[in-house]
Amino acid sequence: MNLRTPGPTPIPQDILNALSGPMIDHRGPFFRDIYDRVSANLKQLFETQNDVLMLTSSGSGGLEAAVVNTLSPGEPVLAVEIGAFGVRLGRMAETFGADVRWQRVEWGQAATPESVAASLDANPDVTSVLITHNETSTGVTNPIGEIAQVVKQRDRLLIVDAVSSLGSLPCPVDEWGIDVVVTGSQKGWMAPPGLAMVSLSPRAWEAVEKSTMPKFYFDLKQARDYAARSQTPWTPAIPIFYALDASLTQLLDGGLPAIHARHQAAGDRIRAGVKALGLSLFPEDESYASNTVTAIKCPDGFSVADIRKAAADMDVVLAGGQARLSDSIFRIGHLGYMPEEELDEALEVLGKALEQVGFAPAAATA
Ligand SMILES: *Cc1c(COP(=O)(O)O)cnc(C)c1O
Repeated sequence: MNLRTPGPTPIPQDILNALSGPMIDHRGPFFRDIYDRVSANLKQLFETQNDVLMLTSSGSGGLEAAVVNTLSPGEPVLAVEIGAFGVRLGRMAETFGADVRWQRVEWGQAATPESVAASLDANPDVTSVLITHNETSTGVTNPIGEIAQVVKQRDRLLIVDAVSSLGSLPCPVDEWGIDVVVTGSQKGWMAPPGLAMVSLSPRAWEAVEKSTMPKFYFDLKQARDYAARSQTPWTPAIPIFYALDASLTQLLDGGLPAIHARHQAAGDRIRAGVKALGLSLFPEDESYASNTVTAIKCPDGFSVADIRKAAADMDVVLAGGQARLSDSIFRIGHLGYMPEEELDEALEVLGKALEQVGFAPAAATA
């Protein structure tokens, strides 16, 4: 099966094999060695000097941890949403009582540094900005480096959902000045779902000291105390540590420039292939199109479900749209492990699926 969803992502066989390692004492020396290696390798891939904490949860658990550890009920924050994941992050803050001011960007577009600056100037009391780096639901990558500059100039805390970008797309956490960054093991990290990775700047740790939102399982101060002993407060997902240990070594072998180039090439390949089939990309401005997931407009009069079903019958799993886009777009994931043959197979099968549902690409482009 060719799994082309933007998480979970395919895992190479040697990493799958690592999952079958024995269960070990998570308070013992073997776990400590793995923890230290995984943590040091993650720091390199995050391009940060700060600790990377590992929480047993999917990516959303890491985002909840980011929110409840840095914010307080009633605190005014800006949530910039360009799609379903931006909405999720802002709603988490609302759920725990933050006073969320929304900057809603039309889905399919990126947020611009100018628009974020304008939102901050219109809301001078907000302390923090919540934003998605790569909006998986729309296939759009926000220019976080530039947005970070305007947030830093205005001295606000920057909390970034980098779940589907970190480890795949350029995201130098310290250089850009991201205060809280979150990712998840099942995206570009070539590991199964089960671990969220979170890193906080010294400034974010100051916010943690003041935060009064309730937290228990996701208490990051506790996670930091245990991390100092190469442990986690609770029983960790040991098999996912095994997988990450193997995948991070492979990722670092090639180095960050190779990782970024591979994702750029995959994005280019899929976008070119999709357009050659007579389809249109969902992102309005292709220069913001994501190199980890491509969102494609479903041609008028055709159904996303039918196209996905036809592809799945040929063993290629495409993702549908999310929330209000569920009937109007579908998506191809291209992050983490993605041999070129599998990307080409996905395009070929998509072409056949379109034929089966009766979409005539040549006529559409003529
Ligand atoms: C996958 C993803 C998440 C987290 O989803 P989980 O299912 O909780 O792992 C969050 N944000 C973005 C942008 C994502 O792509």
